[in-house]
Amino acid sequence: MKIDALRIPPEGINLQEEFWPADMDLETQVISFRGPLKAEAAVEKITNAVSVMVHVVATAQSTCSRCLEEFEIAIDKNIALNYSSAREAPVIDINPDIREEIILDYPMKPLCRPDCKGLCSHCGKNLNKGGCNCATT
Ligand SMILES: [Zn+2]
Ligand SMILES: [Zn+2]
Repeated sequence: MKIDALRIPPEGINLQEEFWPADMDLETQVISFRGPLKAEAAVEKITNAVSVMVHVVATAQSTCSRCLEEFEIAIDKNIALNYSSAREAPVIDINPDIREEIILDYPMKPLCRPDCKGLCSHCGKNLNKGGCNCATT
């Protein structure tokens, strides 16, 4: 999303845009996306400052590091950004800042749920789906 600091009306402006996560380099080895990222921004200019409140919504998916099942991660985040309007180039590209904020929330070790039981180290069964016979001995 790009904001032209010279074209922000006194009452502010609301912008909406959809991004493809791959275009924003948001996909990693553990996080992927199936659809676009939706961003809504409320932009205001107060004297020499441009303040942007961005609401970002997307559905990411990951693979649980314990049971190896795929699961979804809902991204729903409010991001507050501030820029100086007294800059050389009046057009502000806010995507790098949005990207950074989203990536900050990525889990180091994704879990499908906090108490995921993982796989039996013996038979490989997913213990979230019931016990296996190995543990009874
Ligand atoms: Zn799991
Ligand atoms: Zn087992």
